Amino acid sequence: MKALFTCILIFCLGYTFAQDQIPAKNGTITIQPILHGTLVVSYQDLTIYVDPYGGAKGFEGQKPADLVLITDIHGDHHNQETLDGLDLSGATVVAPQAVAEKLPAGKYKAIEVLANGSSKTLLGAGITAIPMYNLPETADSRHPKGRGNGYVVELGGKRLYFSGDTEDIPEMRALKNIDTAFVCMNLPYTMDVEQAASAVAEFKPKMVYPYHYRGTEGLSDVEKFKQLVNASAPGVDVRLRNWYPGN
Ligand code: ZN
Repeated sequence: MKALFTCILIFCLGYTFAQDQIPAKNGTITIQPILHGTLVVSYQDLTIYVDPYGGAKGFEGQKPADLVLITDIHGDHHNQETLDGLDLSGATVVAPQAVAEKLPAGKYKAIEVLANGSSKTLLGAGITAIPMYNLPETADSRHPKGRGNGYVVELGGKRLYFSGDTEDIPEMRALKNIDTAFVCMNLPYTMDVEQAASAVAEFKPKMVYPYHYRGTEGLSDVEKFKQLVNASAPGVDVRLRNWYPGN
């Protein structure tokens, strides 16, 4: 499979932007990490921004978004300043209700609200909202079940999973047929690398990117995550990329 996977490095203004290309039906899916839990996914003429954060400058050189997926209300996921710096007049924003009610009217082509478990096909992309929450489920949880959405996105016959902020919940462990997973791992907000590796070894995506791995103690040990997954689920291709340019 590795031969099917190419990595293009573009050196620009002192930053290294690594862009991965995943072969799909009738085209290629391009993965462009931007920052933390933020990325751009493109396939054919479709451009998707996931949790735009870190300022509009991080999106320079990217095509305007057709779809914007937002997972939760926190500033590293719903970042209105970043959204306002981008031209999203042609974009459909997909968000849970708690985010949608904070979005200004009239700035986007459309706002689509998805609740946990619901699905919609938009511009040819099948989008399903997956729960994301902390364990145990308590009233004062940082991420109570039902508020935020992880997403499974189907593009070109491939299924991509974006975890959002979650622990290793049963709904993640039960995912099936995921080609490419983006899994968070940062304390105290989500989970540690052991929990993340344990969950990944259970749902066995073909490929996994640790993302959203900056916590209060700095960056999580994603090398350790890779070792744990390699040991427990050797068929899973762990992709380490630089999600924190400038670090
Ligand atoms: Zn977050």
